[in-house]
Amino acid sequence: ESQLNPNYNFVNFVEGDSNRLARSAGMAVANKPGGTSFNPLLIYGGVGLGKTHLSHAIGVEIKDKYPDKTVLYISSEKFTQQFIDSVKSNTRNDFIHFYQMIDVLIIDDVQFLSGKAGTQDVFFHIFNHLHQNGKQVILTSDKAPVDMQDIEQRLLSRFKWGLSAELQAPDFETRISILQNKLYRDGVEMPEEIVEYIAKNIKSNVRELEGVIISMIAQASFNRKEFTIELAKQIVDKFVKNTKKEISIDYIQKVVSKYFDMDVATLQSKTRKRHIVQARQLAMYFAKRMTKSSLASIGSQIGKRDHATVLHACKTVDNLTETDKQFKKYVEDLRKKLTL
Ligand code: ADP
Ligand code: MG
Repeated sequence: ESQLNPNYNFVNFVEGDSNRLARSAGMAVANKPGGTSFNPLLIYGGVGLGKTHLSHAIGVEIKDKYPDKTVLYISSEKFTQQFIDSVKSNTRNDFIHFYQMIDVLIIDDVQFLSGKAGTQDVFFHIFNHLHQNGKQVILTSDKAPVDMQDIEQRLLSRFKWGLSAELQAPDFETRISILQNKLYRDGVEMPEEIVEYIAKNIKSNVRELEGVIISMIAQASFNRKEFTIELAKQIVDKFVKNTKKEISIDYIQKVVSKYFDMDVATLQSKTRKRHIVQARQLAMYFAKRMTKSSLASIGSQIGKRDHATVLHACKTVDNLTETDKQFKKYVEDLRKKLTL
């Protein structure tokens, strides 16, 4: 059982500037699994941008071209669970052996391996074996390797051996094509101005673009409503509100460190350099304001600090905002960027 979803194929994966590199690297890998320098191929990008879809598409294409090759798709959570079970039942070697026999191994969302030393260790050995034997490894992650945390250095260095290709948020044209493609597949016609309205307002998540179409179709058929701009507005509003709530601490750290032109690791580092301390305090402040996380959880995610440090950061930011004009501008700029 390959666990591949045949609907997640290349034909259904609309091409655009935002995904062209990842898509064509995926195609190259599908044409010659294990035979390109894209090994591993790591596809990374934010939620709902097509990582799972594209990784399946590569597997589906390989199965189509090379029916004899064993292709396996697995989420890293499932992989971890299987490994833990194998340790419990004393079948760790069988587990390793099973994975070493695969021709094309696709592991989705490897960021979930972070902090799991045992699973990383076993994956390291499986990876080396596959790679040495010219087998193809395809990985997805919500972050680029440089931004991954709590992943062993030796594994991270393997991730960087091949190609890391980013899936970016689709531009307007691509969003239109994705919507039209979805409507076409569902056999539904929708006025152009409505499609454009949706594409203008849902920007950073393909799953949400599809979600709006699904809701529109459901509303139209259950409640006998027409496809109107008003209906589109109502549905889009719901999606936009829901995403606003979902700002993550990760995202905040990314935005803040980018704003100050440093990387996330620097922002989290132990240094006492003033501008870095301030960046970190701002990240903590926004994490407190914009997420539901506790002080303790914010501290542990922003450089392993304790809750008192986060509390202190929030107070410092409040104080500086009142006394320091430049600092106040930082807060305002960042607020805008984070809520955009
Ligand atoms: P991720 O794994 O990055 O969170 P998914 O692969 O689950 O995202 O994609 C979310 C949804 O958006 C899926 O239904 C997928 O089919 C669709 N999708 C993503 N990118 C594209 C694309 N380029 N063309 C068509 N559909 C896409
Ligand atoms: Mg996914």
